[in-house]
Amino acid sequence: MLDNNHRVINYLRLSVTDRCNLRCIYCMPEQGIQFISHSEVITYEEMLHMVGLCVQKGIRKVRLTGGEPLVRKGFIGFLERLCLIEGLEEISLTTNGVLLKTFAADIKNCGICRINVSLDSLKPERFLRITGQDCFERVREGLEKAEQVGFNPIKINVVAMKGVNDDEILDFARLTLEKPYHIRFIEIMPIGEKNTWPAEKFISAKEIQKKIKTLGDLHPVGRNLLDGPAERFALEGAKGEVGFIGALSNHFCDNCNRLRLTADGHLRGCLFSDHETDIKTPLREGKGDSHLLDLISDTILNKPRDHGLLPYKPRKCVRSMNSIGG
Ligand code: SAM
Ligand code: SF4
Repeated sequence: MLDNNHRVINYLRLSVTDRCNLRCIYCMPEQGIQFISHSEVITYEEMLHMVGLCVQKGIRKVRLTGGEPLVRKGFIGFLERLCLIEGLEEISLTTNGVLLKTFAADIKNCGICRINVSLDSLKPERFLRITGQDCFERVREGLEKAEQVGFNPIKINVVAMKGVNDDEILDFARLTLEKPYHIRFIEIMPIGEKNTWPAEKFISAKEIQKKIKTLGDLHPVGRNLLDGPAERFALEGAKGEVGFIGALSNHFCDNCNRLRLTADGHLRGCLFSDHETDIKTPLREGKGDSHLLDLISDTILNKPRDHGLLPYKPRKCVRSMNSIGG
């Protein structure tokens, strides 16, 4: 379906849970997090219902995110059922990789085609500093297992931060020479009321790209209709590719095809807009599908034209990333 700005909306990001086994510095504070109460979190049954309705409105791709999807009990059973929904062309998963070794084979067997693993450092001590947990080795083993069971390519999300991990940008890029990894460098985004926006840590996609060009020419890689906002390139002779998500510096809003469903059942047109539509309450009140379909249409039609952010003058949104689904 088209929104009021003539964009095709075909991609739903679904936050399976707001809980997580890590505490990344840019996403969740170590203390004082207000988690959504269990009764307010949408059940798997409700999610399946909502995804089915979204498919009727033109959604063709679903990404499961969170929080950390793999920490929610019964997740694999849910995936199996999600994969049976007709009309979905692609289901993918974003995970921090900590539990990937355990679940990679099950995820693959369900029919999930793509996974993104978030990994901001290749150094165990630094990983601990960024995430609050000493889990680098588990993520590394998770990536190994994912490769073994046949995920190819594997996307790796790297939030680039000045003075934190920007000295590893070239190491990540070099990985694509040997491995079929798609490394996605993401600009750090201002999100969540409790986070202090670390403006001094911001490093733009352009700066990252410039650094990588010191390794050699970057060749543009083709895109398809369900692709996200990453600009994709490959180094000469590389097995993998590098991508840049300039969430702040590069206004990709003109091509944004996304809708988000939060862990407590609210539909959002934009990560950065606090405008959202409560779908769970009418669903629980037993309102019919035609009413719910109208709410979905309204959210799509009224998707904000752009996020209105500027790199050095950010506007925070009230919800944190883990509850919206990053
Ligand atoms: N827990 C899973 C993970 O980390 O992959 C899925 C949820 S996480 C919110 C999804 C993605 O959002 C991750 O790649 C994470 O690095 C990114 N993210 C979270 N907070 C961010 C922020 N403030 N700026 C940029 N990216 C962020
Ligand atoms: Fe958890 Fe992912 Fe947020 Fe890190 S980015 S705290 S792994 S939800």
